Amino acid sequence: MKRKKQDFISSLKIWYKKNKRDLPFRKTKDPYSVWLSEIILQQTRMRTGLVYYKKFKKKYPNLKSLSDARGEVLLKDWEGLGYYNRVKNLHSTARFIQKKFSGTFPSSQKELIKLKGIGRYSSSAIASICFNEETPAIDGNVFRILSRVFGIKKNISSSSSYSYFYKKSLSLIKQFKNAGDYNQSLMDFGSVQCLPKNPLCGDCIQKKICYAFIHKKQDCLPVKKKKAALLKRFFNYYVFSYKNRILIKKRGESDVWAGLVDFYLEEKKKKIKEKNKINNTVKKLITKKYSISFFDAKTKLSHQEIFISFIEIKLFNSSVFKTIEKNLDLLSLNKKELNKLAKPKVINDYLKKIS
Ligand code: SF4
Repeated sequence: MKRKKQDFISSLKIWYKKNKRDLPFRKTKDPYSVWLSEIILQQTRMRTGLVYYKKFKKKYPNLKSLSDARGEVLLKDWEGLGYYNRVKNLHSTARFIQKKFSGTFPSSQKELIKLKGIGRYSSSAIASICFNEETPAIDGNVFRILSRVFGIKKNISSSSSYSYFYKKSLSLIKQFKNAGDYNQSLMDFGSVQCLPKNPLCGDCIQKKICYAFIHKKQDCLPVKKKKAALLKRFFNYYVFSYKNRILIKKRGESDVWAGLVDFYLEEKKKKIKEKNKINNTVKKLITKKYSISFFDAKTKLSHQEIFISFIEIKLFNSSVFKTIEKNLDLLSLNKKELNKLAKPKVINDYLKKIS
């Protein structure tokens, strides 16, 4: 096994030298830039992440500029990336470091992980890349590569597997010598060569020692238990409009899309038929002439699928509009004002469709 580990590491080094991805945040060891890239790239494809990384670096070149930014402006800049807690945590951590450490990033994994929004993976990535600390960053790439090369059959969805892979990786990172390069080489190898589906085994530098290749087990490794079924939710959004104004609502903090804006929402247990769509509260409030139309949409989040019915109610009477605004605790905005606020992608897509 010792020999196999050595072979794996020397091949990985050769591969990385030749295939290292040319990414802007790879050219620096500045913890602010590495942290920003790590947070943006969580749950985001590289191509999209790069666009946002460049945009953020241009607008907020350092920790101080990010900590000075206004929360609503940051939310708007983040719009389209999803998982908005990431940007809220970025902001609060930037402010915390600015205040508590006079703008200097903590330099060890143990300190970094205490910061809001920085978990096991990001703390290890930052500590290894910026401070050469031998701390392995364990993600799906690492689970997959090590499972395949070393024939590990542990269920990677089980929480106990993490420490197994961490220990395994710890012995490898020491042999690699450069901790940041070790973690980054696995990120790249997993994204370019040892892909989740159809890994490029034919020209893989590891194929002579790779258990999965030798035993044709690429599709069975890593071992993953089945995912829980997606939670299905049914949202009825009431879109009240009068002339060029529309009624919106700011979302609370405890559900999806926390802090963003949407419309008056009624959540249902199942999809209901069109003619029954208007609820009694709304019916009572629309005392004058109106027109109604419907538009359906669907969106998928990590653990839930949301089926949306937009119920467009066009009002022709300003006092009815104002009564609805007051009684349903909504806010009247024109399009320009609405454009400035951060909204879930599905709402933005809908607004584009109706504009
Ligand atoms: S041989 Fe195939 S499965 Fe093995 S490490 Fe290379 S790409 Fe991955």
